[in-house]
Amino acid sequence: MTDLQPARGTHDLIGEDQRRFHRVVETARRVAATYGFDEWMTPIFEDTRVFARTLGETSDVVMKEMYSFDDRGGDSVTLRPEGTAGVCRALVSNGLTQSLPQKVFYAGPMFRYERPQKGRYRQFHQIGTELIGPAEPLADAEVIACGWNILQALGVAADTVLELNTLGDKDSRQAYRDALVAYFTDHRANLSDDSLTRLERNPMRILDSKDESDRRIVAGAPTIAPYLTDAARTFYDKLQEHLTRFQVPFRENPRIVRGLDYYGHTAFEFVTSRLGAQGTVMAGGRYDGLVAEMGGPATPAVGWAAGIERLSMLMDQAPAPPAPVAVVPIGEAAEAAAIGILQSLRAAGIRAEMAYRGNLRRRMERANRIGARAAIIIGDDDIAAGLAQVKNLASGTQEAIPFSDLPSRLT
Ligand code: ATP
Ligand code: MG
Repeated sequence: MTDLQPARGTHDLIGEDQRRFHRVVETARRVAATYGFDEWMTPIFEDTRVFARTLGETSDVVMKEMYSFDDRGGDSVTLRPEGTAGVCRALVSNGLTQSLPQKVFYAGPMFRYERPQKGRYRQFHQIGTELIGPAEPLADAEVIACGWNILQALGVAADTVLELNTLGDKDSRQAYRDALVAYFTDHRANLSDDSLTRLERNPMRILDSKDESDRRIVAGAPTIAPYLTDAARTFYDKLQEHLTRFQVPFRENPRIVRGLDYYGHTAFEFVTSRLGAQGTVMAGGRYDGLVAEMGGPATPAVGWAAGIERLSMLMDQAPAPPAPVAVVPIGEAAEAAAIGILQSLRAAGIRAEMAYRGNLRRRMERANRIGARAAIIIGDDDIAAGLAQVKNLASGTQEAIPFSDLPSRLT
């Protein structure tokens, strides 16, 4: 076989790419833990029904993007396109619906059959949080504040803006839906085929269309504000007050509806102008209907997910790994002793490496090539004395150090 490439829309993470990726996950995990989120890991494939029913039949994800296949036993399974459905399925399967609240953090791969472009892949990765149980707008504000703190900790907050909207409660949405149907029906001649389908099943989703002609029509569509019930209005006002107390800046955008169904009340996106068309880095909202859809009791919940690749692209270079120490034995007896030294350094948390072969010159060249900060040179004659020559490769100075002192001296 020749010329094997990664499958379209997938990529290998190596070197700096992997370091950034790791930094996003580690930072998010650490910040989310300070809010009391626990990490869950759910399978990367699920029974297709977990997604097909719950994400909404008219969402892009379900209509066009799912990686579904029949396994050898004839069951339809799907590579997860997002994390929330699996977390809600897990809540129900593990009998946790009576142990609320559950505060869940996750990180891992997601799969969508998309047209690959910058910031849009077929295997991509998300971090996410879900706060399951509380119905209060304080929960929405806290989940958003956690996301904002993560963006701050990654150094990308200055490049992003929180756009906030409400989708209201059921009654607000019903009234708004009628208004949208009336409006879009007047413009149906210019709607895309996808949006004509949405008009039948879920007209609010037309607001999220990426089609150019749709977008021109959407620009003139009614907003939800006049259709909000008093309860929905109060919820939205409280959310905004809390966000201000959490010191999370935001701006309202009445066009934010979220790509997936089962959202209500809060919908938000952290967007950037630095990634072209793929400007949404973190997105979420309240999804009070989803747990019931999985067969559990009616359970309020709010959460968000963020694309790790898009966050990585906004970040400054990740810090390089610490420079290693090279152990350089000259001779067979020295090599035997060097293994013990190598392991004592590693046990002390020091990055230490030793070449598998080569004379002094070769090994010193290699030490420089791997960017070593010091070379620990051991000759056969040094073993009895238990002394190594330690050469500082930045300054060139050299010093004899007892074997047993090496870990503490090189920390
Ligand atoms: P978009 O409008 O860009 O298609 P979406 O609404 O489909 O996004 P969500 O389902 O809300 O995205 O996923 C949350 C986040 O996951 C997005 O904001 C983005 O950062 C990331 N994301 C989604 N799809 C992809 C993809 N195909 N490749 C890379 N990142 C993605
Ligand atoms: Mg999408």
